[in-house]
Amino acid sequence: MVALQAAAPKAQTETRLDFDAVIIGAGVSGLYQLYKLRELGLKVRVFEAGTGVGGTWYWNRYPGARFDSESWTYGYSFSQKLLDEWDWEEHFAGQPETERYLNYVTDRFDLRRDIQFESRVAAAHYREATRSWDIVLDDGWRCTARFLVTAVGVLSAATLPTIPGLKSFKGSSFHTHYWPKEPVSFAGKRVAVIGTGSTGIQTITEVAKTVGHLTVFQRTPQWAAPLHNAKITRNEMDGIRANYADIFDRCQATFGCFIHAADPRSTLEVTEEEREAFWQKLYGEPGFGIWMGNFRDILVDRQANRLISDFVARKTRERVKDPVVAEKLIPKTYGFGTRRVPLESGYFEVYNQANVELVDLTETPIECVTPAGIKTSKREYEFDMIIYATGFDAITGAFDRIDIRGVDNVSLKDKWKDGPRTFLGIMVDDFPNLLMVMGPHAGLGNFPRAAEYSADWVARLVRFAGDRGLTRVEPTAAASIEWTDHVLAASEGLLFTEVDSWMTGINRNVEGKQVRRIMRYSGGHPKFRERCEAVAAEGYRELALA
Ligand SMILES: Cc1cc2nc3c(=O)[nH]c(=O)nc-3n(C[C@H](O)[C@H](O)[C@H](O)COP(=O)(O)OP(=O)(O)OC[C@H]3O[C@@H](n4cnc5c(N)ncnc54)[C@H](O)[C@@H]3O)c2cc1C
Repeated sequence: MVALQAAAPKAQTETRLDFDAVIIGAGVSGLYQLYKLRELGLKVRVFEAGTGVGGTWYWNRYPGARFDSESWTYGYSFSQKLLDEWDWEEHFAGQPETERYLNYVTDRFDLRRDIQFESRVAAAHYREATRSWDIVLDDGWRCTARFLVTAVGVLSAATLPTIPGLKSFKGSSFHTHYWPKEPVSFAGKRVAVIGTGSTGIQTITEVAKTVGHLTVFQRTPQWAAPLHNAKITRNEMDGIRANYADIFDRCQATFGCFIHAADPRSTLEVTEEEREAFWQKLYGEPGFGIWMGNFRDILVDRQANRLISDFVARKTRERVKDPVVAEKLIPKTYGFGTRRVPLESGYFEVYNQANVELVDLTETPIECVTPAGIKTSKREYEFDMIIYATGFDAITGAFDRIDIRGVDNVSLKDKWKDGPRTFLGIMVDDFPNLLMVMGPHAGLGNFPRAAEYSADWVARLVRFAGDRGLTRVEPTAAASIEWTDHVLAASEGLLFTEVDSWMTGINRNVEGKQVRRIMRYSGGHPKFRERCEAVAAEGYRELALA
C-alpha cells in the first residue's frame, strides 16, 4: 500500500508527517492495532505511559488481580500460530500470567520496536492545513501523524477519593492500579482497604490471607458470585486448543462476547423448583454464567431481577456467619447484575475471620485521613497501610486527561461534557482522522473479542482511505447523532440505567461525573458488528471523505 502522506493532495504534502498513524496505549487494543496497521505497511508509533506493555495487565499488580473472563476466550484469536504456541495455566488467569502473555505476543510479532514507553500523550490537535494530528507528550516531545488512534482503555484513568488529609498519612498507601512491582507484605500489619468493587473484592480476599488486621471500608456492597477458578490440565488445554474455532464462534454469537449465552427462558415461565435448581447450578459453575447465562429477563424485568437478587442474597447469608455483617454485605439499593458482577474466590468467608472488620460508610462516613489512619464520624482507626481500591474515571476518563482538539480547536472534553457523541464508538464528528478502539459507545463485554473487531474495522477504513488517496475521514454530524440516538435507545428498559455505577458514567470523586449517562452500546455485539459491516460494505456513506 502507498504511504498515506504521499497520497495527499499537493497542498497537504508540503509538510512531511512523522508517522502515518500514532496509537495511544499499548494494552490489548493498542498492541493488536499496531499489528494491523503495520500489516498495511504503515509507519506507526505507539505511545505508552507505562514502562511495559499490557495496559490493565501491566498496571494492576494488586494482590489477587485476575480475569473474570475465561483465559482461553480472552486471548487473541487472530493468529493460529499464537493459539498453537500459548498454553494458559489457569481458567481465569491472574495478572502475572496475562502480563506474560501480552509480552509474549509483543515479542512474537516484533511489536516492541514501534512502542515508545514512558511517553504520556498530553495533547493532540488536529491541523486542517495538513489534515494531520500534532501530538505532544507531557515532556514536550512532539510529532505529527495522519491518523490518531486511541487505545487508551476504559478502565485506565485511576481515581483517588476526595477525602481530606489523604497526603497526611504517615504509613504506606497504595492505589490498586498503581501497585508497585516489588512484593508488599501484609504480615503483622494493620491494613485498611477503601472500596469494595471488583478490584476491592479481589484485593481484600488476598490480603486477608496474611494480614495482621484488616479493616474494610465499604460504601456500596456488591452482588458478588463465585469465580470457581482452577488450573488447566494438559488434557484440558489440548481440548481447548482443538476447539478454539468453536469457542471464538460462540463468543462472537453472544451478546457480550463471552462463552455464556442468555437462557432463552424467562424467569417466571419455569417452576420455582426448576428456577432454584438452575440458579444453584449457575452459582456452582465457573465464570459469568450467573450473569450472562441466566434467564433472558433478569436484567429487564423487575420481578425476575428481584427473584435472582433474593437467591444471591440467600447464598451470601449462608456464607457469612454474623447475620449483621451479612446484611451489610448484601446490596439493598440495586438489583443483581445491574452493576458489573464481581467474581470472587472466598470473599464472603473473609468476614468470618476474627481479624477482619467491616465498616459501613453509609452509617459512619469517612471524615478524613489522619497521619495515623482514618477518621470516620464514629472514631479514628490506626493503620500501617491504606489501600485505595477506588477505581477509575471510566470510559471517557483517559480521553479527558488528554487535550484533544478537532476542527476549529473544538475540545473533545467539552464536546462530551453532557455525554459522549460518537459514530459507532469509533469516530467523532469534528475530529477528522481520529479513530477510537473501544471508545465510548462501544459494546463492553469480553474485551479482546470486541477490541479485535474494532481494530480490524479501523485498519479496514485506513486501508480504504490509503487505496483511494483520501487524507481526511470524518463522520457526518447526522450519522453521529443517529448512532448516538440508537445507543441511547438500545439502553431503554435495561435496569442498569437506573443505577449509579462506572457503567453509567458516575464517579463521585470526579467533578462533572455525577449525572448518569449512557456510555456503552447495549444492543449486543452481533448487532454492533452487523451495523459496522454495513457501513463498510456500503462505502462509508456516513463519512465525509476527502
Ligand atoms: C482489574 C481489572 C480486571 C479486568 N478484568 C477483565 C476481564 O476479566 N475480562 C475483560 O474482558 N475485561 C476485563 N477488564 C477490562 C480491561 O481493561 C480490558 O480487558 C482490556 O485489558 C483493555 O485493554 P485496552 O488496551 O483497551 O486498555 P488498557 O489495557 O487500559 O490499556 C490502555 C493503555 O493506554 C495507556 N494510556 C492511556 N492514556 C495514555 C496517554 N495519555 N498517553 C500514553 N498512554 C496512555 C495506559 O497507560 C494503558 O497502558 C478488567 C479491567 C481491570 C482494571
